[in-house]
Amino acid sequence: MALFVLLGVSAASADTIVLKNGRRIIASDVVVANGRVSYETPAGELAIPESIVARIERNGLAPASSSVDTAPPVTAPRVDVAAGYADVAAVSVHDGSVDASYLAQLEMDARGGGLTAIAKVAAAHHAAAQFLLAEGDFEGAAAHYRQALTFAPDNVPLLLNLAMIDLRESEFTAALEPLEHARRVDPNSADVAKLMGWAYYGANKLDLAVGEWKRAQQLHPDDDVAGALEKAERDLLEEAGYREGETAHFSLKYSGAAAPDLARFVLHVLEDHFRSLETELDYTPPERIGVILYTNEAFADITRAPGWAGAINDGRIRVPVQGLTTVTSDLSRVLKHELTHSFVGQKTRGRAPTWLQEGLAQWMEGRRSRDAAAALVQIADKNASESFGQMEGSWMGLSGDSASYAYAWSLAAVESIIRSGGMGDVERLLDHIATEPSTELALRDSLRIDYAELAEQTTKYLRREYLR
Ligand SMILES: [Zn+2]
Repeated sequence: MALFVLLGVSAASADTIVLKNGRRIIASDVVVANGRVSYETPAGELAIPESIVARIERNGLAPASSSVDTAPPVTAPRVDVAAGYADVAAVSVHDGSVDASYLAQLEMDARGGGLTAIAKVAAAHHAAAQFLLAEGDFEGAAAHYRQALTFAPDNVPLLLNLAMIDLRESEFTAALEPLEHARRVDPNSADVAKLMGWAYYGANKLDLAVGEWKRAQQLHPDDDVAGALEKAERDLLEEAGYREGETAHFSLKYSGAAAPDLARFVLHVLEDHFRSLETELDYTPPERIGVILYTNEAFADITRAPGWAGAINDGRIRVPVQGLTTVTSDLSRVLKHELTHSFVGQKTRGRAPTWLQEGLAQWMEGRRSRDAAAALVQIADKNASESFGQMEGSWMGLSGDSASYAYAWSLAAVESIIRSGGMGDVERLLDHIATEPSTELALRDSLRIDYAELAEQTTKYLRREYLR
């Protein structure tokens, strides 16, 4: 990836000004003259004394604008319903399908009310539901749990499994119903508290999430919950003095130091972007999306993001807005970029690879590959392109240069997909990713290409579109 820098790409240039106190300013058009460093920001041209600047990192490419992490706050516990009924499970699902007549027979037996017969029905529906989940059929799986609950309404494992489906679908409010029922049956279940914390966290009710996770830790300490709790408590502390605003699709928190009208403008712009993404991706996120506007210092402290990240989406959209009094075109782009991550994350149930997330988010904010095309093609000609498989995981550990390259290559790939098959191809790809075991398999099933062919298609596209 260092190659990219050596090639001396000159693109829509953005640089990082690193101050002697460690602060980093990402800016464009950085000019050093007469003892001053001047630069462009979303708020207009600014200048600072050269004496406080440690160095300027020239970055050939446009800055990596954001980082995404849409993994759930905690992992889902394994809650087995069928313990002791492995034989029933084995008969319920065989030869690649659910045995509906066997399930019907078990239900008939259970109508008499015998405890063993009811336990068998629960085990059979659980086996059927787990089979469908593995196939990506979330609705079918939920239907099996609901059916089993008509026979065993107080079965906590059934209730927890049903809630986990809602949580994975980002239906946080819906998840609370089975969880509250489970709590009434088993008030001391750590799993119930863990999952309730997840539901409240997802629904932007941080204080309630913290309460649940604390309770879970008292009942049964767990590293996974400890990490989520620490993060939520940090957020809660920072946001204690924040003000709030809400619209149909967003719940916004912003520092009291922010300009009073800014929050209102931000919500207005977000609603516009929401409508356009809803149409483009043919998807509506089921719950309000959380957005937090920070001062720059608070953003760095809270998110602990790498220096190159200008905003972040970890389930909530976190944006630094220091010095802004209105929504500039740059801020609007950042908001659309971050909102795209929320849509893609929820549509794929958190399974979209980072390259697709970032490629699509950049496309939606209006970036195109023109300035990076020559360098990307040169790298591809040297067989030095990063493989998409290697760009599936988190990019949080990447250096600024590697991140710039990864962003540029991902945008080019998404651009080539959209230009060859339209947004319909992207929609189909996202739907397949939500249900298939790997992204490459989803790519093959939806677009009939593998990663190597995607790289080839991308390079061809760049050549044809920009380098003739
Ligand atoms: Zn991003």
